[in-house]
Amino acid sequence: MKKITLCLMLFGAMYSINAQKINLGKAAGMVSNSAKALTFTNEDAVKLSKESVDWMDKNNAVAGPKDPYTVRLNKLFGKHKSQDGLNLNYKVYKVKDINAFACADGSVRVFSSLMDIMTDNELLAVIGHEIGHVKNQDTKDAMKSAYLKAAALDAASSASSAVATLNESQMGKMANAFLDASHSKKQESEADTYSYDFMKTNKYDVVGAYTAFKKLALLSEGSTQSNFEKMFNSHPDSNKRAESIKKRAEKDGMWKDPGTVSLPTAKLTK
Ligand SMILES: [Zn+2]
Repeated sequence: MKKITLCLMLFGAMYSINAQKINLGKAAGMVSNSAKALTFTNEDAVKLSKESVDWMDKNNAVAGPKDPYTVRLNKLFGKHKSQDGLNLNYKVYKVKDINAFACADGSVRVFSSLMDIMTDNELLAVIGHEIGHVKNQDTKDAMKSAYLKAAALDAASSASSAVATLNESQMGKMANAFLDASHSKKQESEADTYSYDFMKTNKYDVVGAYTAFKKLALLSEGSTQSNFEKMFNSHPDSNKRAESIKKRAEKDGMWKDPGTVSLPTAKLTK
């Protein structure tokens, strides 16, 4: 993937195979006091998200309408575009990173490499998780901090107390700033809960949410049982998150033991 990541990534930048970090250079720590006092509304977050996603779409390989990845995502996501009163849109980025992200404006982007290792039920759990972040407006704070980093590079913008229109280069910088943005544990846990409820309400198999996290745990452990490249960093929370999904499913009488979860040896999108 082009070295940009914005909005809140499902699994955090740590799940990127191409874990090349953007050097933010002097950007960090240069936020002026006036910029800190910036009034940043949900509308600002939505507007900047929309602009950032447009930028991302232009700078990444987006799967075309007849691409098998798009066809598969249409099948899974198509009926949920208005989920929970939201106005959602989605696309597939054909990139090596195993990830997905959601933005304040309702844009969800799923990466093809994630679709290679996840079953339909697991992808639905991921989609539910992303919709949860949109619904809970989790992207606002990350968007604000990235905006400030981008604006801080330009004295004129950072001196203003209103959200300025970013130029092309600032937009890229803002997108880059999201590389280091991550969810709080609370936001993650709430998005997991949202995902579980999404699965349950739509009569999908909630065990998919469990196995999705188990697969991520395997990736972070650098499992050698698949062709997939070893992940760079560990993410010890994945197993814990899987376990809490299992507990809920047991309580709801919806638990079915999936057996040992392993990473597929062939791509799951055909
Ligand atoms: Zn998340």
